Amino acid sequence: MSTSYTVLNPATGQPVTEVAEATLEETDLLIERAADAFPAWRDVAPGERARLLRRFAAVVDEHVDELADLEVRNAGHTLGNARWEAGNVRDVLNYYSAAPERLFGRQIPVAGGVDVTFHEPLGVVGVIVPWNFPMPIAGWGFAPALAAGNTVVLKPAELTPLTAIRIGELALEAGLPEGVLTVVPGKGSVVGERFVTHPAVRKVCFTGSTAVGKRIMAGCAEQVKRVTLELGGKSANIVFADADLDKAAAAAPYAVFDNAGQDCCARSRILVQRSAHDEFLERMERAVRAMRVIDPADPDSEMGPLISAKQKETVTGYLEDVEVAFTGDAPDGDGFWVPPTVVLASDTAQPVWREEVFGPVVAVMPFDTEEEALALANDTEYGLSGSIYTRDLGRALRVSRGVQAGNLSVNSHSSVRYWTPFGGFKQSGLGRELGPDAPNAFTEEKNVFIAQD
Ligand code: NAD
Repeated sequence: MSTSYTVLNPATGQPVTEVAEATLEETDLLIERAADAFPAWRDVAPGERARLLRRFAAVVDEHVDELADLEVRNAGHTLGNARWEAGNVRDVLNYYSAAPERLFGRQIPVAGGVDVTFHEPLGVVGVIVPWNFPMPIAGWGFAPALAAGNTVVLKPAELTPLTAIRIGELALEAGLPEGVLTVVPGKGSVVGERFVTHPAVRKVCFTGSTAVGKRIMAGCAEQVKRVTLELGGKSANIVFADADLDKAAAAAPYAVFDNAGQDCCARSRILVQRSAHDEFLERMERAVRAMRVIDPADPDSEMGPLISAKQKETVTGYLEDVEVAFTGDAPDGDGFWVPPTVVLASDTAQPVWREEVFGPVVAVMPFDTEEEALALANDTEYGLSGSIYTRDLGRALRVSRGVQAGNLSVNSHSSVRYWTPFGGFKQSGLGRELGPDAPNAFTEEKNVFIAQD
């Protein structure tokens, strides 16, 4: 039975548009079309596939403002962030447009002939995207997958389908053949599950919650289907007393409140060495109070609303029975607004310390020694990102090697550059995206021995 979803503007709670959700039968049809498109796409000469991807990037570039406006209305992202996100799709396409001519195999010395390896595309790749960064996460999946010669079916999150649908249209406008990149809006339980169970889909590239990721991994096991998982996080920002405290305190709010905290890399736990704890919090308070939490369509906005009324309810639930140190501002009235909130954690068992809140809430706790900081940072089932603030180079190295997480930054809170690998330790994920090796993750390595006699 066909269903449709009413997209709401998170800043106002008002409807934006209706989007038809694909049924199971429609999903099957689109997967089969992607499978039919695969042999021709695989056989496009590397230089020509590269040219088409560069053209796709150019068309996205021509539509950055349009895509950004759509994201502001659909996801409540600040205009500045949304423009960056659309530009990220362009940049990721450009970066991987250089991959088709560089999908190198190896020549391995053997007796009696030649041994060479090939990176063969898999076939149809299913990309499943969450609502928090609809554009970049889609691009991190489809750009390297297409570059490696696969066709892609892409399911946006129910809440945020608009930019993905537009990017699918732009792909056709850029000259990608029908069926090479197909956007299939719909429910996770229908479209997403079908990507897992349909035998023509040879890999699932999933970003979302750890609970759904585990289910997808179990489902993929049925067909030994390839899977990449980018899941949740509860990352630590470790501030040592010898750090540049001004810099650390000015950066800390943006390390967790960007995208209203709906960021898998959010540094939602701050560990501060006890001797610097009070001074750090004083400086951070000034930075949090100065944050511009206003209409995301205003170019000065630094933080917008949460994605939905449900998310707001979940996030505010974490604020019961905790000690709030201070908060920033947020508009009153309609829309799903929660102010940036800094909590003093008293116990590592508190849900606000252990669970991924996925909202503008950060929990702060003091520590005494480097060993204690590491033990606290690693006391989590997650391992996605984290920051270390110190002026001691040796300590920076020791702690970065000691934190069990995939993406760390020293004296900085940056996590993702498309030309460096990204992914999680422990229950934050499986496999890596981005960086120079991403196209290989969308191929099978084949070994061929050619006898000389
Ligand atoms: P979610 O797991 O609820 O949904 C993610 C996607 O999976 C959506 O498109 C959804 O429709 C689909 N889905 C739901 N059930 C499914 C099923 N049974 N089979 C197949 N697909 C299904 O996550 P969300 O609430 O949209 O996103 C927030 C989560 O994503 C957070 O936990 C966050 O940490 C995580 N995230 C991780 C990264 C990363 O790179 N590690 C990046 C962004 C978000």
